[in-house]
Amino acid sequence: MPKIYLLDVTNRDGVQTAKLGLSKLEKTMTNVYLNEIGVFQSEFGFPTTKPGGWIRAITDDVETTFKRVPGIKHLNVSISTSDQMIMGKFQGRKTKQDVINDMTAAVDAAWAAGAESIGVNAEDASRTDLDYLVEFGLAAKEHKATRLRYCDTLGYDNPFTIYRTNKALAEKVGLPIEQHCHGDLGMAVANSLAGAKGTIDGGQDAYINTTINGIGERAGNADLVTVILAVTKSKDFAGKYQLGGSVDMAKAWKIAKFAEYAFDVPIPINQPGVGANAFAHESGIHADGVLKDPENYELYGYEELGRGDPIKVDTGREIIAGQYSGISGFSHVMGKIRDVSFKSKEEANEVLELVRYANVLSHKPLVEDELLFIARYPQIVKQLLTVTPLVTK
Ligand SMILES: [Zn+2]
Repeated sequence: MPKIYLLDVTNRDGVQTAKLGLSKLEKTMTNVYLNEIGVFQSEFGFPTTKPGGWIRAITDDVETTFKRVPGIKHLNVSISTSDQMIMGKFQGRKTKQDVINDMTAAVDAAWAAGAESIGVNAEDASRTDLDYLVEFGLAAKEHKATRLRYCDTLGYDNPFTIYRTNKALAEKVGLPIEQHCHGDLGMAVANSLAGAKGTIDGGQDAYINTTINGIGERAGNADLVTVILAVTKSKDFAGKYQLGGSVDMAKAWKIAKFAEYAFDVPIPINQPGVGANAFAHESGIHADGVLKDPENYELYGYEELGRGDPIKVDTGREIIAGQYSGISGFSHVMGKIRDVSFKSKEEANEVLELVRYANVLSHKPLVEDELLFIARYPQIVKQLLTVTPLVTK
């Protein structure tokens, strides 16, 4: 039976959001948490920096990508497929056949350069004529693409339309389909589920694109925790449509709180599962009912989401592990963290130096897991914090 996998795009869609960003250490921590919660893959960003971003589905971008990230194994190449975008963006410079030719050439180039899996993104797929989308998908399949990403770039779909198109694509193209949904009409999660259901009914694995706390361009993407809740808890869904891999929902609280802190964007109080009010009951009847039996008014328990784990080190008013930390303040902070001891003063100093740099880059005190990560993997962190100038041709 095909399954639903989670492919998180926080480090790409989330970070490309207007007014938001993450430091490299924060992106790395995000990946650590995503790994703990059990997502299949995390999209780490744009290896090319040209206007338009992404890895555009053209050989030039693919070659640049492999030059800049020689070890890259898994990538998605992206190109617009709708008439609107082909006319409005390419302004008559590309025909629909050109779009397919560019995409297949990019896929060939990525295989030749050593890729192990290649996703092909149909940007604005929801406004693309289905016959053309099938033709595009079949061309991608002919060139051995691993998956087809169905991008509802503008959040235009609804659960009924995305179910139909994703089912048709799965049946006619015969590739696993990714659901990349946006919340412009408030349906990112619902559309992701409906698209995944269509894909599975069409006989293929589904890959829902999520972001932590739903942070993404404009109104955002499908929220990771809500998607997990919706897939596992909603009426009549989980029996047939199941998550692949081992997803640990108990990490939900931690990952949501970290993203809130790192992005500096508060979680709305009514956010499913992790919002401040998600388990608050005030009206007399509800409060009474939930005390008698939580299942009277709750679909799931707060413990399931790991709510309550503190993530910031209690550093008091004066002592925080920041840019201006001295060694005594630092030991004080690290002393509060279990499992860390340093062999020598030199080692402690070296870690402190890294903490200072990390702090400069993220502009805020580090959380406990970040400090632990730096203390455990100083060499990796040193690499992360080093900025290598790009050689442009
Ligand atoms: Zn997007």
